[in-house]
Amino acid sequence: MPYFRENGIDPAAVRYVIVTHADYDHSGGATAMRDVFPNSLVCAGERDRAMLEDLELMISDRYGEFAHTHNFDETEEGKHFIRAVAHSTTIDIGFTGGESLDLGDRTIEILHTPGHSWGHLSVVDKTTGFIVVGDAVLGDTVPLADGRPAFPPTYRYVEAYRATIRLLKGRRPVAILPAHYPAMFAESALDFLDLSLAYTDLVELVALETVTRSSRPISLLELIDKSHDRLGPWPSPACDYLVYAVLGHLEVLEQYHLVQSLIRSDGVQAWVAG
Ligand SMILES: [Zn+2]
Repeated sequence: MPYFRENGIDPAAVRYVIVTHADYDHSGGATAMRDVFPNSLVCAGERDRAMLEDLELMISDRYGEFAHTHNFDETEEGKHFIRAVAHSTTIDIGFTGGESLDLGDRTIEILHTPGHSWGHLSVVDKTTGFIVVGDAVLGDTVPLADGRPAFPPTYRYVEAYRATIRLLKGRRPVAILPAHYPAMFAESALDFLDLSLAYTDLVELVALETVTRSSRPISLLELIDKSHDRLGPWPSPACDYLVYAVLGHLEVLEQYHLVQSLIRSDGVQAWVAG
């Protein structure tokens, strides 16, 4: 809002509010945006609509995905915080990627960039060649505002995530504008995309090696406990957020018959070498 004031832009002129994806720290203020931008339409990826329109579904199905068979969930305090700072929002337009928005002096293109969530969108400014990528690509650690490592890259759908990174590389972006990193330009943007792709190969290799070396079926949290020092600098409990990426990689490895999963007698899913 200070930017709008300083540059004399009337909030009533804002037509589109584009939510990149269903995560409360990216979407929870969209309802407040409706008050600030009274003529706006709230837009988001169609595949993320259900969770955006129902915060409880986001909490149970996105953040709570690991609760039943992996013994990992947000704390009650964490859920309370999410409910306190974020709200559900109605999505006026669901994008699927490939749409163009004519803003008069420039055209905006919508890209479907899944992986972190199924409906994740990125936004291309065709005039500048800048791409707003949100959390579509996450490097090898997600930093705090001061640059210190906060938690692991929380991509979930591995092959979609890899395809997204390759799609963004193919665009040869002049700059990428992530949500949790500073803007990156030209070669440093491509380096970041390459780093992000290489990191997925590292996680997959470490997951496979850790399952193969285990003498008994190994659960998701046990695997992370044994291997997180090879994957990044996060101490416990932040390293537990590797559940998103590591489960994604275990699913890929299982598709290639390199690992097999079973449900142990304690109800927890575990993996053995395939
Ligand atoms: Zn996110």
